[in-house]
Amino acid sequence: MTKQRICIVGDGLSGLMTAVSLAKVPGIEVNLIAKKGTKNVDKRTTAISDINYKFINQNITSLGKKLFWPSKKIELFYESSKEKINFLNIKEDNFNLMYVFENDKVKSLLLKEISKNKIKIIRQDVKNLDELKNYELIILCLGGQSKIYNNITKIRSIKKDYKEIAITGYVKHNLKTLNTSQFFLKEGPLAILPFSQNHFSFVWSVKKSFFEINSKKMTTLVKNKIEEILKSKQDITISNIQSYPIFLSLRRQYYQKNILILGEGLHTIHPVAGQGFNLVLRDIKKLKEIIKYYVDLGISIKNSYALNDFYNSRKPENTIMSLGVDATHTFFKQNKYLDPFKEIIVKNIKNNETLKKVSKIISNRGLSF
Ligand SMILES: Cc1cc2nc3c(=O)[nH]c(=O)nc-3n(C[C@H](O)[C@H](O)[C@H](O)COP(=O)(O)OP(=O)(O)OC[C@H]3O[C@@H](n4cnc5c(N)ncnc54)[C@H](O)[C@@H]3O)c2cc1C
Repeated sequence: MTKQRICIVGDGLSGLMTAVSLAKVPGIEVNLIAKKGTKNVDKRTTAISDINYKFINQNITSLGKKLFWPSKKIELFYESSKEKINFLNIKEDNFNLMYVFENDKVKSLLLKEISKNKIKIIRQDVKNLDELKNYELIILCLGGQSKIYNNITKIRSIKKDYKEIAITGYVKHNLKTLNTSQFFLKEGPLAILPFSQNHFSFVWSVKKSFFEINSKKMTTLVKNKIEEILKSKQDITISNIQSYPIFLSLRRQYYQKNILILGEGLHTIHPVAGQGFNLVLRDIKKLKEIIKYYVDLGISIKNSYALNDFYNSRKPENTIMSLGVDATHTFFKQNKYLDPFKEIIVKNIKNNETLKKVSKIISNRGLSF
């Protein structure tokens, strides 16, 4: 029987993971189209949930345990006028709450898997989608900013420019214990994500104006801030500082004919809760199930309801989670009138066991129960 051919355009985390995952479906041939000569310069880390870690594990021959650093505890702090209040600690003894990986290393791992699975990589900067008309299904994983999407979706997306920049980087340290933590600081949220015994990464989302004023002295500023929140004067070394503009973009139309948008192009969200790639992984898992269903029945994907099924099953969660992250960001944003009330609210959260349970479940599984 001839195989149904799917092409995936874009070699970011979404494109690579989609290629590896769909190539496992019998009856499918996957081609990956990636720009010529792009360098792997993504020096960020990504936190994923336990269930999403298991999904990656199922799709990769050998995961290399050291690439995924587990965490059983997450601490949240709120900076009030006087102190940094530790308002929520989420702890789990029986499984890991999250795993943190270095993006460039996991991209290399996925590329190795692509080569093992003999997935053809075509080096091409796609400009016109007509070039791809011989495929049963075209999946665009072109990131959040590509203009190509405008040829597909006619309905306006939900968009918001936060006018903020996420400053990211690595920190080498000698601390004995360090938990995954998020500090809601006056300047903006700062996440600490350990990814090896002596390294953690940070994501600090600040106003664009604050970033521009301080851009030349960013390393010193970050170093002082991290020493202040860790209450430690021991020597830490900062490296790989990068910056990313922050947007919310939620597509209301996911596909046209046999062309589907996936990854950041479908939903770009604020990094405050580390949910962006977690949503993408749940999208890929569902898409794989749906494609397998139609291919097993011997139905051509092009002429099936596959993309409509995908849209119906993923849109509710993608919308609720993305707007939920936006609401979390708005709540913690500095506001001189509301800040005194926030202090009272966060102090009351501390002992709320139901909230702890719900946060654990949602960050692990999303809204798919
Ligand atoms: C600061 C920050 C921190 C984050 N932290 C987390 C986290 O902790 N947890 C989490 O779950 N998520 C996190 N995210 C989200 C996560 O980084 C993304 O969801 C993830 O990287 C997936 O991106 P992508 O592959 O969809 O897009 P991109 O990484 O933008 O990849 C798009 C690819 O498409 C290629 N491309 C573009 N146009 C063309 C073309 N015409 N032809 C061929 N190729 C093309 C590009 O070269 C690129 O390789 C974070 C995001 C930010 C900004």
